Amino acid sequence: MVPVPTSVMCFRSDFRLNDNPALREAIEAGPDGVVPMFVLDDHYWGPNGRTRLAYLMGLLRDLDDRVGGLVVVHGKPEEVVPRVARAVDASSVHVAADYGPYESGRDERIEKALADDDVAFVRTGSSYAVAPGRVTKDDGTPYRVFTPFFRAWKEHGWRAPAPGVRSVPWIQADVRTTQLPDVDPPEGVIFPPLGEEAARRRWRDWIDQVDEYDDLRDVPGRDATSRMSVHLKWGTIHPRTMLADLAERGGKGAEAYARELAFREFYADVVHHRPDTLEGYYDKRFESMEYDHPGGDLQLWKDGRTGFPIVDAGMRQLQAEGWMHNRVRMIVASFLVKDLHLEWTVGADHFLDLLVDADPCSNQHGWQWVAGCGTDASPYFRIFNPTSQGKKFDPDGTYVRRWVPELRDVPDRFVHEPWRLDEPPADYPGPMVDHAEERKESLRRYEAMRS
Ligand code: FAD
Repeated sequence: MVPVPTSVMCFRSDFRLNDNPALREAIEAGPDGVVPMFVLDDHYWGPNGRTRLAYLMGLLRDLDDRVGGLVVVHGKPEEVVPRVARAVDASSVHVAADYGPYESGRDERIEKALADDDVAFVRTGSSYAVAPGRVTKDDGTPYRVFTPFFRAWKEHGWRAPAPGVRSVPWIQADVRTTQLPDVDPPEGVIFPPLGEEAARRRWRDWIDQVDEYDDLRDVPGRDATSRMSVHLKWGTIHPRTMLADLAERGGKGAEAYARELAFREFYADVVHHRPDTLEGYYDKRFESMEYDHPGGDLQLWKDGRTGFPIVDAGMRQLQAEGWMHNRVRMIVASFLVKDLHLEWTVGADHFLDLLVDADPCSNQHGWQWVAGCGTDASPYFRIFNPTSQGKKFDPDGTYVRRWVPELRDVPDRFVHEPWRLDEPPADYPGPMVDHAEERKESLRRYEAMRS
């Protein structure tokens, strides 16, 4: 009997069938059958990140429907992937390359275990337009500053989107599949539509407003950003597809948007070269700064009860949607580090726990940028004033009123400083700190660290 060539397509954070080079390779290697699989790896299964996990379960169900039977196996990837490959007699296992420190170690272990069975482990493509590590300075060292990275990244260029696959010869493997656990999102969090179709639809609908992006992306009340981060995180769309559409449109807005996509790639590149910065300081000098211990202050910040309207609006949006506008992420992060004097890692952990788009590279480096200890960091001494940030970016209080109902009836000119009203709303707290005092205190600690 002639053996039937089969392959295994192992999905990780690339939940799409279009523009998926790894899947194309899998079809080529297994024209008579591709087994779709996903490993429920304990690494992703900690006590935190319930929002993310609930979203992931939704995506897996969507993929299961589309492929007509996704093999989901709980266990150590280096054990369960070879087991499935053996069970279906596959000659190769296909994945998109992953670059995080845990992920690359995991993949080396899988590769080695498969090699013992003579099964090839084939990495094709990644979730980036340009894979981390590819863009370097002329002397081969990595970029530490975004703007020159961005220039070199554009010069490097990327492939055109991979052509779609007309049909995939999925086969249902006779392998015991783990039932997907029920994980509910935290109370009150409602997800937008999810899956590949939803990602493409959102992108098609949103790109019509890209011309306004550059002017409005900092105004949280206008909903002018794309909300594609969750789709990029899970790979329900590839940035290459988006960059091709942006190039076709052209213009200032499209260019500004491509620049933001490059930020995501820059941070992945930084982590590739400095994996230690997922947990520790990029600029090690900041390890010795004086920080406070998290206590009741942290809880007020998490609950959106700081008394600073823009901070509270952001924290309540995070709780309600598992997402927060970028400008407001910066404001709330600055507040935690420079008004409450807590380490950035404390806030970053909370974000990773709640964000549906939680991406360790963008998150940890977004936090470090704000905290002044990251790449390209905003200088430490440039301290965001939450009241003037609110007035500047949410001038009529649209965003604050959406998330802080206690302030709905406050006139515009007091909406970012309700404590100045003769009768402030009784159900909204007064400011938990004196920003001017904490600013001075931050600068004192900064100078002490430097001396
Ligand atoms: P858009 O403005 O429409 O941008 C388009 C895409 O560009 C985004 O989807 C994202 O992939 C990328 N992008 C935009 N801004 C940035 C940025 N500053 N850094 C890296 N990529 C960017 N982004 C995440 O995807 N996951 C995170 O966990 C995350 N944590 C953050 C934490 C902090 C403290 C800060 C300041 C930023 C963080 N960001 C994170 C970056 C940014 O806030 C989000 O990508 C953005 O708000 C997502 O909304 P959007 O898709 O509407 O963005």
